[in-house]
Amino acid sequence: MTTKTYQINVTGLVQGVGFRPFVYRLALESGLTGWVNNTNENVQIRVTGKQSDIDHFLNCLKKDAPPVSMIEKVAIMEVEHELLTGFNILHSNDVSDEVTEISPDIAVCNECLEDMQKEGTRRDYAFVNCTNCGPRFTIIRDLPYDRKKTTMQSFPMCDDCRSEYETISDRRFHAQPTACMRCGPHYELFVSGNLQSTEMNILLEHLSVIIDNGGIILIKGLGGMHLACDAFNENAVKKLRNAKNRDGKPFAVMFRNPEVLANYVELDENEGQSLVSWRRPIVLLEKKTAINQPVLSDGINAGLDLVGAMLPYMPFHYLLFRHLRTSAMILTSGNVSSEPILIDNRQAIQQFAPFTDAIVLHNRDIFNRTDDSVVRIMGGIERVLRRSRGYAPAPVRTTMQTDGILAFGAELTNCFCIGKGHKAFLSQHIGDLQGLETTQFYEQTIAQFLKTFRVTPVLLATDMHPGYISTKTARHFPGIPLVAIQHHHAHIASCMAEHHLDEKVIGVAMDGTGYGDDGHSWGGEFLFCDLVDFTRLIHFDYIPQPGGDLAAEEPWRMAVSYLYKIYGISFLQLKLPFLEELDHEKTAIVVQMIDRKINCPLTSSAGRLFDAVASILGLCQFATFQAEGPMRLESNVQRNCQDTYHFEIDQTVRFDATIRAIVDDILDGISVATIATKFHNTLISVIFEALNIIRKKSGINKVALSGGVFQNKYLLEGTITLLSKNNFEVYTHAAIPANDGGIALGQLAVASKRRENKCV
Ligand code: ZN
Ligand code: ZN
Ligand code: FE
Repeated sequence: MTTKTYQINVTGLVQGVGFRPFVYRLALESGLTGWVNNTNENVQIRVTGKQSDIDHFLNCLKKDAPPVSMIEKVAIMEVEHELLTGFNILHSNDVSDEVTEISPDIAVCNECLEDMQKEGTRRDYAFVNCTNCGPRFTIIRDLPYDRKKTTMQSFPMCDDCRSEYETISDRRFHAQPTACMRCGPHYELFVSGNLQSTEMNILLEHLSVIIDNGGIILIKGLGGMHLACDAFNENAVKKLRNAKNRDGKPFAVMFRNPEVLANYVELDENEGQSLVSWRRPIVLLEKKTAINQPVLSDGINAGLDLVGAMLPYMPFHYLLFRHLRTSAMILTSGNVSSEPILIDNRQAIQQFAPFTDAIVLHNRDIFNRTDDSVVRIMGGIERVLRRSRGYAPAPVRTTMQTDGILAFGAELTNCFCIGKGHKAFLSQHIGDLQGLETTQFYEQTIAQFLKTFRVTPVLLATDMHPGYISTKTARHFPGIPLVAIQHHHAHIASCMAEHHLDEKVIGVAMDGTGYGDDGHSWGGEFLFCDLVDFTRLIHFDYIPQPGGDLAAEEPWRMAVSYLYKIYGISFLQLKLPFLEELDHEKTAIVVQMIDRKINCPLTSSAGRLFDAVASILGLCQFATFQAEGPMRLESNVQRNCQDTYHFEIDQTVRFDATIRAIVDDILDGISVATIATKFHNTLISVIFEALNIIRKKSGINKVALSGGVFQNKYLLEGTITLLSKNNFEVYTHAAIPANDGGIALGQLAVASKRRENKCV
């Protein structure tokens, strides 16, 4: 009987996710001998055996790989025959400074949930985990990934845990955070700031009584604290909003299980898959009109038809739902508005004891804070809108050399990015760089990433905006060359980098705001660009933005700006209901500001156009959260209307005819839904027309779509459909946010390419 020997190299996310034990078990099961080893670049496997057994092994290698692993490539080479005995996991000796990947956190797996039902030291134990699940990024202080370098360091394993940890065939072989109730962390219940109990059943009973009776609790989670209350209780939701001292921003809802969830939201197969994936993100879903069901509180999402829904992902969530009567609770980040999610126990008690009915903490430290991630399925593809728990800090693979590049991101929904080899490490969601706390979190996380991934910055990339805190932070790295990149060029480059595009494309940036190289505020842009540079070919016509940034919070200002431009002062005579609502004095002041050009920067922003239309339609005059106007507008869209409004286009796109027609429609009593839909359709055809003009001139057929406005499902899907039908090759964001959370990747790509071309 002849046997053969193969060398198999597997690349991708295959470290710290139970890949070697899996290979070990599979090799034994296939009757092969050999070894498996981790190196800096990949997992290497050597096997000897019958060809048919090796075929079986290779077949299952991809098919049955651990759920969290992501195999990018399997390189198979037959090598000189070797007689190998047994199958061994070799000691990874070159896993040193060069180790570059950290697994994101993983939702508790089914086998661990089963362990919680069995007699023994993991019965109802809320910190159960194995090589297939559990905390990773949030507890890792440094690399290589080893218990000593995690916040589990302070919990020495008991003999049983250690023996599992050392047994190759065990599911907990080398599971760094493994623990049981004898040796691991535990929860503590605080009431009025005082420790009440550490007894799990008492604690859970107490919490569930509070929630079921309309109370509010603070729970320490995986990446930070959460505030929780019954999602059906209007008063509780109101109280929670006050505790957070916050705006009207929608809250996420955690449902007991997928069956319950399906009663409240519309769900297709892709959405269902995202919900149950090991990443367990918040998925934006359309609310169902409840039939014979309790109704989710309106206060959750300010009457929008979207709900951010998620399923339990920590053992604690499962345990809590076992005690709760309600089948859905609000679970929102525990922080005061605009501050980063809290991770410190003492601070949690200080800040939230007065606003909550109980606080439940645990004694495992959170090292890297992460928020819940947010995704939306659009065009059948999962689009990450907020990239944090479960996604960060998995690297983005790039075609370019990124070594030593530090890209600072933008201002709102900030993420930064560092480069190493052909990888880009995009940070978790940092937040809006405005308050002191967020800025500190930003600076600390940059320092932490540079240290953990062993990167010494040699090239800095920032936004062109001179006033951004991210731009100013770059000054903390004196003496290092810096490139300032135009905001929308970075948006498009981000989309290009995600798709490994390195050529000329047409970039469509539909965005809120970004500093233009003419000093104006951009955001409705058609760029002809590559990764090095861009030409701005077509843009939305400039219009004054009265009050500057304030206009983004007060959409009525943009409405006045558009109407005044089109109708002159006689716009005040239009019988538009929203005008009645406005403060007449303030309206007069805004008109004066426009006349005298006082604090009225010019903008070509698509986001501000959405704001204006939302305001004119009476949907939103004062935004209680970011992009409320555009979201309300989208919320009103119906899918059965194809009509559009007129617009003019050459080097600029002018919406005078559009706004006039919208005003006429309102005066004619046409429904808000119809007008909102026609407006969306208009934008889609603006994009199409602009691209036709540019394609004719340039012969370029590849289009990259980016910018926060493309978080709008109707707009994105409609644009993709129309462009594809007309033979454009369309590239859109999926793993990287289309909003400013993805911009650092684009900055990094541009910086890298300019360095390659020696133009920095
Ligand atoms: Zn597990
Ligand atoms: Zn133990
Ligand atoms: Fe932007």
